[in-house]
Amino acid sequence: MRPLILLLALLRRAPWMAVVLNPACLLLALFLGVPITQAAGPSVALTAEETTYLRRLGPITLAPDPDWAPFEHLDESGGITGIAIDLVELAAQRLGIEITPVIARDWDAAVELSKAGDVLILPFLNRTSAREEWLTFTEPLLIDPSVFITREEHPFIADATQLSDATIVLPSGTSMEERIRRDFPNLTILQVPTENDAFQAVSNRAADLTLRSLTVAAYTIRKEGLFNLKIAGQAPEQYVNRLRMGVLQSEPLLRDILDKGIATISPREREEIVNRHVNITIVKPMDYGFILRIAGTLAALIGVSFYWNLRLKKINDALSESERSKSVLIANLPGVAYRCRHDHDWTMEFISAGCLQLTGYRSEDLLHNRVIAYNDLVAPQDREQVRAIWQEARDADRPAALEYRIITADRQEKWVFEQGVFVHDHGKRQVWMIEGLIIDITARKRAEAELYRVSIHDELTGLYNRRYMLERLGALMTEFTREAHCFAIAFIDLDYFKKINDTHGHPAGDLVLREFAALLGKSVRPYDLVGRYGGEEFIVVVTDSHQRKIETMLARLRESLKHQVFDFHGTPLSVTFSAGVANSGDLAPDEGIDTLIMQADERLYAAKAQGRDRVVYRRALSEDTSPGLV
Ligand code: GH3
Ligand code: MG
Ligand code: MG
Repeated sequence: MRPLILLLALLRRAPWMAVVLNPACLLLALFLGVPITQAAGPSVALTAEETTYLRRLGPITLAPDPDWAPFEHLDESGGITGIAIDLVELAAQRLGIEITPVIARDWDAAVELSKAGDVLILPFLNRTSAREEWLTFTEPLLIDPSVFITREEHPFIADATQLSDATIVLPSGTSMEERIRRDFPNLTILQVPTENDAFQAVSNRAADLTLRSLTVAAYTIRKEGLFNLKIAGQAPEQYVNRLRMGVLQSEPLLRDILDKGIATISPREREEIVNRHVNITIVKPMDYGFILRIAGTLAALIGVSFYWNLRLKKINDALSESERSKSVLIANLPGVAYRCRHDHDWTMEFISAGCLQLTGYRSEDLLHNRVIAYNDLVAPQDREQVRAIWQEARDADRPAALEYRIITADRQEKWVFEQGVFVHDHGKRQVWMIEGLIIDITARKRAEAELYRVSIHDELTGLYNRRYMLERLGALMTEFTREAHCFAIAFIDLDYFKKINDTHGHPAGDLVLREFAALLGKSVRPYDLVGRYGGEEFIVVVTDSHQRKIETMLARLRESLKHQVFDFHGTPLSVTFSAGVANSGDLAPDEGIDTLIMQADERLYAAKAQGRDRVVYRRALSEDTSPGLV
């Protein structure tokens, strides 16, 4: 909820407060409630002296205001609840102490109990000199700014001293009245009995504005459905409420103990507690106009508050909020955010919780190389390159982006993308740190590899395709020109293949193509290349070629094909091939790969013309003349 974001932005800021004075004494209606502390163990160590003191002190009693929602109020079952109660409970839980509420009839009665020394604590009130006559105060449990509430048609209040002819309504018995009379002599003051009456008076036009706590305003407007009201501006800082526990002056040690508990409450915990009580459900139909108006006003308020932040240099507040957003962001990263040293181990000074999922190691295992150094996670073959890229980035004073492999705790290889930037460690000027993100890209890398595999292979036979073979031939030709590494190519075409299709159908032809391709693959050495050039044509490239090698290979293939019968659903099929061979070593100096391909093609054509089932080398005919038959 936006008001609460503002509230949090203002926490711990204002130097002064609005004051609620204790009205006249009323009759008391007391009962002792159940202890409000919870069972979780303490996290603050008390000294022996403190423990002895507490034991002697007996029950720690506290009298809340039974009717001050959402801070302290009775719930349907008569128990005490609210923001103040939860905050006190949390502090008490941390201290491992029990606090017992004493429910007075109303606030005045609670104050009387305290004055009479019948309860030790008033849980949630501003410090005033009048109260200091019998109370001593803890550090604030909550800091809550005051805001101006007007009807929706009222413009934003940037400076309340500029308002003229306006009536401000206030609950009676608060010290705020006196202060407002002094600070805003331009305003006419109207007093009403209760907090709620003040809001109602603005809503039904009996007054123009009121000045209340932001938390109470947010709660009351929503709870009472006073949707013609809006938060129209923030009161000056001296009106910010610092709500503390008031402890009997006779018990300063109790106050010190309570302060220890309060000190453990984090801004995040305060935020959660406030949200728990202010985010009440609205029973009325949603008024979108109201929400828009509130949003507009809050945008203006946030602007003003931002300006104050700058002026007052309250960097701590901004930091704690930004830390919170950062941790939410980091927790949801598909990888890790880190801060590491630029050393041999990439020593981690911070690594987010995503570490476990990415690497199989917990963040703590990597921090300061406790169990393993990040460098040991980088795949050994990539370590040098990773180091070189970072060194280059440091030399050029720019960020780095890189991809490499890591080995996880369960010995899996994962691809990661890393992006980061060098920062100086301000504490130790010489130390360079890197801050960045590491993201798992294994799935992308696998998809890319599969895409590449598909792009260079023929689907039917699994051999390389024509495009890839031509690419490799180009590379081999370049190598041949430079290093004189000879290679030979053979174009192979199945004889009378069309007949197989025509007689037994296309699937039979496919089967023959697949089986022949498998046989061809087995006939060559691992470093030779075999591809499907198209239709029923294949190409074999024999590297480091001596004529004899390719001759032997093709003779062996012909021989095995002679005895090979392909079984197509019980029908035996056989096939022969014709081939033309060309050798790079035979090319003239000005001839290239096109000539080589042309020569092989011409020789294949010659083999066909001469009766098929034969291989033609150079211009001479092969001596092998036995015809191939279907
Ligand atoms: P030749 O001895 O002169 O080479 O005669 P041929 O019948 O083998 O040659 P031709 O060029 O006349 O026919 C080749 C046939 O190969 C025609 C075409 O339908 C068939 N073919 C091409 N690709 C495929 C394929 O992927 N599967 C099947 N089943 N047949 C194919
Ligand atoms: Mg053919
Ligand atoms: Mg053909």
